Amino acid sequence: MRRFHRAAVLFLLFLLGAGNTYTQTDASSGRHTLSLNEAMDQLDGELLWDPLFQSGIITANKHQASFQAGAAGEDALILYDNATLLTLPSPYTEGGELRFPEAFIAALRGNIEESLQREEPRFSIAAIVVDPGHGGKDGGASGNLTINGKKVQILEKDITLKVSKELFSRLQKKFPGKQLMLTRSGDTYPSLEDRVDKAHAIPLKENEAVIFISIHANASFNKQARGYEVWYLSPEYRRDLIDPKAKTGVEEIASIYNDMLEEQFTTESVMMAQSILKHFKGTFGDSLPSRGIKAEEWFVVRKARMPSVLIELGFVSNEKDAELMTGASGQKLFVDAIYNGIIEFVERFEKSGGFTEVANR
Ligand SMILES: [Zn+2]
Repeated sequence: MRRFHRAAVLFLLFLLGAGNTYTQTDASSGRHTLSLNEAMDQLDGELLWDPLFQSGIITANKHQASFQAGAAGEDALILYDNATLLTLPSPYTEGGELRFPEAFIAALRGNIEESLQREEPRFSIAAIVVDPGHGGKDGGASGNLTINGKKVQILEKDITLKVSKELFSRLQKKFPGKQLMLTRSGDTYPSLEDRVDKAHAIPLKENEAVIFISIHANASFNKQARGYEVWYLSPEYRRDLIDPKAKTGVEEIASIYNDMLEEQFTTESVMMAQSILKHFKGTFGDSLPSRGIKAEEWFVVRKARMPSVLIELGFVSNEKDAELMTGASGQKLFVDAIYNGIIEFVERFEKSGGFTEVANR
């Protein structure tokens, strides 16, 4: 259905308080009418009013109704949400004030309530957990770099913390409405369980998701080995996402439900991994090789009941990679790549209403 066209009319926003505030009885019909104030209070809405054409648009709870003021006691056609025509007792002006028949407001309220009930809440990613790998007593991979003739030992735990903290603060600025979490912010050693438990403890509403991004660096005996890779948990690894007896009391159904959840998390993890990998390629071009997306069972966040990926930035055992990962300009590139990958994933996830829906189409 087409929208109403109103060429070159000036809409004036009637401020609440402009109308009188008492209920009147319409003398001709005996029906009750409401002032603008009362009407908008009842709808929790706002009126855009065009005095020239005597037409108005009421918006309430993201729904709207267009009408033209008629005569008291008459019916009018009301266009609801630019799609549905309703025949309702017409609003009218009296002594320069708009009056709304109670039946008009009641019908509108009913329509809005019905619309709200029909709408399924959208999926959103309410929380993002950034996990700097290792820390404290666990240095992770280590490599030796010669800078200006000096031998320097570099540790994975330091690189992952630097990159994670920078990523975290940029995500915080980008998504002020989301819960952002770092599993460690200093040189400490939370266990793998601690890290995942922290993520699970984030309070979520229904249709809200949390994603987990673990940041690591590689090492190899082969000093030539270079490049980044993104890992997700192999679909062969079956996580116990739910207590077999908790949900249904029937173990068999619980197991099917578990498989479905597992598949959903795997799909979403793969999609997140793809977005991140794509932005690594865009950011680094040929200067750092891609080792692709990989699936494993021993993946660090195997107990995570959420879409999760693990990123190996590069190799501390390779001089070029190590330079990139320890220098400020190189670290910024890693942060850019992950940041843009996460944003792309979050926006696609939220636009599609959750990837599960997309995957099943
Ligand atoms: Zn690691």
